[in-house]
Amino acid sequence: MTAPPTHDLVVVGGGPGGYAAALYGAAAGLSVAMVERDKVGGTCLHRGCIPAKEFLETASVFRTVAGAKEFGVQAEQPTVDFGVSQQRKGKVVDQLWKGLGGLLKKRRVTTVAGTGQLGPGRRVTVDGGTELVGRHVVLATGSVPRTIGGFEVDGRLVLTSDEVLALDRLPGRVAVIGGGAIGCEFASMLSDLGTQVTLLEALPQLLPGCDADVVEVLARSFKRRGIDVHVGVPVHGHRPMDGTTTVLYGEGGQVTVDAVVVSVGRRPRSDGLLAAGTAVEVDDKGFVRVDPWCRTGEDGVYAVGDLIATPQLAHVGFAEAMVAVQDALGEQPLPIDYGRVPWCIYTFPEVAFVGLSEAAATAAGHDVVTKKDPFGGNGRALILGETEGLVKVVAARDGAAGAGPILGVHMVGPWVTEQLGAGHLAVNWEATPAEVGRFVQPHPSLSEVFGETVLALTGRGLHIS
Ligand SMILES: Cc1cc2nc3c(=O)[nH]c(=O)nc-3n(C[C@H](O)[C@H](O)[C@H](O)COP(=O)(O)OP(=O)(O)OC[C@H]3O[C@@H](n4cnc5c(N)ncnc54)[C@H](O)[C@@H]3O)c2cc1C
Repeated sequence: MTAPPTHDLVVVGGGPGGYAAALYGAAAGLSVAMVERDKVGGTCLHRGCIPAKEFLETASVFRTVAGAKEFGVQAEQPTVDFGVSQQRKGKVVDQLWKGLGGLLKKRRVTTVAGTGQLGPGRRVTVDGGTELVGRHVVLATGSVPRTIGGFEVDGRLVLTSDEVLALDRLPGRVAVIGGGAIGCEFASMLSDLGTQVTLLEALPQLLPGCDADVVEVLARSFKRRGIDVHVGVPVHGHRPMDGTTTVLYGEGGQVTVDAVVVSVGRRPRSDGLLAAGTAVEVDDKGFVRVDPWCRTGEDGVYAVGDLIATPQLAHVGFAEAMVAVQDALGEQPLPIDYGRVPWCIYTFPEVAFVGLSEAAATAAGHDVVTKKDPFGGNGRALILGETEGLVKVVAARDGAAGAGPILGVHMVGPWVTEQLGAGHLAVNWEATPAEVGRFVQPHPSLSEVFGETVLALTGRGLHIS
């Protein structure tokens, strides 16, 4: 019998965590094989980040055309042909998918189609047949939508994100269950495109964990646009009738809709991943257990991305993949500081933040000082006609200087997902407002609002105090 091929690195799963490990490992000169059961790109490219943002852009175009008259541009009241939007999304996804495939080929990553299972000795079996042995193995099999009892997903009345992103016609009335990032993005997109949306969240606020001032702006905007938001209301089930269904929530609340979107998080896909005899451990929620360098219990085997209990974000998967490869190369990487990774939510208005919210900083024992600057007074925001929102900076109080290191930067408003970079650097470098305030912001730009907020924290703001 011939020995199975040995690679420096065998990756199981070709989503952001897996393909980043493959590309980064190959860039370092490792021989890499990657096993993928479906399409490289994973949830993010085919059922997540990219398609969701593509549809949010459709909503943005719709809003722009609907508001064109205000600029003196005469356009007819827009309507949406979601089938065409779906085709455009398909083109964007296909182009990125082909690009990724080309990149993997160029880096000489061997992609193997099939379902991988890890056995002892870093041996990966594909579809129960072909075997690959890795000097190192990265597990990156990702996650699938979580569901809730009483809401059986049928793709017609009850949908998860997978089904919403494949629709070719939008339902007239929708109940979105879950007010986290994905639920809020769907509520925002569907409402802007004409669907009547009811948003139901069991916890006391939308976007749990996000700074309360930011959430308030988003909740106000949702309300103004007719989204019926209910927080602190668990759902109890639903009663289908004649092609519609009535969702029961809170104390006696009910709403009749054409579809229910269940958006209550994602569970790791670890079922069947591990054959008997590996020392890789899985916790009671199905997450693979790892140390801060993404090492599992088995020597040379790493796990990254949604498969481990860290923030379920594509860019966190990228970062973990790099840490795992660096560790495999013996480069002693620094572990990821999960409390300081960027979060971007592409609702209208957008939300972006990094670091501690005011409440979390106070709860962690910091004596904090904060400043907020609204987009309402910003020239570029007025030109765009998008003045809803604010920037809030949370810093540690420093007796002599007023404000010490910046602990958190929180934004809601136009294009804030593209503006968070400066805040991200400030928080991660533990910079003070005096240090960041020295940097000049371009004028007129939306980024002046961050600059103003930081300046105000030095005790001498230009436009705000
Ligand atoms: C609607 C939606 C919007 C999102 N928006 C954002 C966003 O804006 N920004 C952001 O950062 N994140 C976003 N996310 C989250 C992001 O998509 C995930 O964090 C990311 O895809 C996780 O990457 P991963 O590689 O760990 O897993 P996945 O992307 O799930 O990829 C895992 C891959 O492994 C394959 N696989 C599974 N089991 C096996 C096996 N045994 N053998 C071989 N292959 C296998 C799967 O087919 C899949 O291709 C969004 C998610 C959703 C659902």
